[in-house]
Amino acid sequence: MFVDVAEIWAQAGAGGAGAVAFRREKGVPRGGPSGGRGGDGGDVVLFADPGVATLLDYSYRQHVRAGSASHGEGNNRNGADGEDSRLPVPAGTLVSDAETGDRLGDLLAPGDELVVARGGRGGRGNASFAAPVNQAPRRWEPGEWGERRRIRLELKLIADVGLVGAPNAGKSTLLARMTAARPKIADYPFSTLTPNLGVAFLGPGRSFVVADIPGLIEGAHEGKGLGARFLRHIERTRVLALLVPADSKDPQAAFDMLREELVRHSAVLAALPHCVVVSKQDLASGKAEGGNLRAPGAWASHAVSAVTGEGVKELKEAFWSKLAEEPTPELKPLPPRDGAGSTRVPPADSASLPPGGRQDGSPGAGVFDSLDEWAP
Ligand code: GDP
Ligand code: MG
Repeated sequence: MFVDVAEIWAQAGAGGAGAVAFRREKGVPRGGPSGGRGGDGGDVVLFADPGVATLLDYSYRQHVRAGSASHGEGNNRNGADGEDSRLPVPAGTLVSDAETGDRLGDLLAPGDELVVARGGRGGRGNASFAAPVNQAPRRWEPGEWGERRRIRLELKLIADVGLVGAPNAGKSTLLARMTAARPKIADYPFSTLTPNLGVAFLGPGRSFVVADIPGLIEGAHEGKGLGARFLRHIERTRVLALLVPADSKDPQAAFDMLREELVRHSAVLAALPHCVVVSKQDLASGKAEGGNLRAPGAWASHAVSAVTGEGVKELKEAFWSKLAEEPTPELKPLPPRDGAGSTRVPPADSASLPPGGRQDGSPGAGVFDSLDEWAP
């Protein structure tokens, strides 16, 4: 199963509270304040991992928490920071806030990272509040709660060529012919339930990625059939091939329907360069040849048979030359929008942490003047 969308709760760790303590040393009757600060809570961080191909893990693991920090201690010891929770996702994953829909960022290249929930800052201990006028402060701050946010992960395939066509148009068979991929081939609609990817080789340094996009049916952009869910995957392909089987009753209508679906789905798709591929050429009867299709926007029309192999090599060469003309896509991650849509809430183990906390995140808010105000 290929999972292309996942939603998870990300809970960052709480910051530790600052300590109130005074030095106690032999021969020093009144030592100064020595309460250290609390550690910072761990972040929930996504990173693009080339070893991961799907979001499948996150359909099993829907709650992710980073570690909470320890509190500050006497002797000016600061609390330990909470451990980050680092989640591998496939390159090409888009991340948004599931509640607001705000885009948080893209993880495109291996190594890209994105903090999706920030850990709470640790509170200051009383040592931080020492001043000439107050040499024995009893002030301290609780730690801040970690951010909690529901995030949505979406994986868009990044393929060079997308094969688009109605169910049974011959996409899977053609992909298998052109590449080393071995997709499921069957004689019934929606034989391909998942987008299949394959690498087409023409020779050293001449290869490209082909995606087989499961069947479009009429109304796919409105959510009918399987098409709509998968149309998203092809928005990042560089060129499209629209497959029309040579044995279609009405090839022109079949082609127009595909174009219509693409245009109605999105401007991005509609703007992609596309060619016509008349598939199943071995079944062509006189009237159903591709040459006389009206396809004004298409850069070319090709006739192939995935079964006999006719025209397949030429088609690969044609894709290669077209791709060479097209600019290499430059996908820049969007800057993360810090704070958008997140709330700071107590983690499940909040019993061990101060109530309230610096909810508004402003340093100093919620500074306590004495330990009596909050007893752990
Ligand atoms: P998809 O739904 O577009 O992926 O279509 P498939 O690749 O699964 O093919 C649907 C049916 O058409 C299968 O029974 C294939 O064997 C058949 N088919 C695919 N390509 C050709 C071809 O070039 N010639 C012939 N005669 N049959 C083909
Ligand atoms: Mg298929």
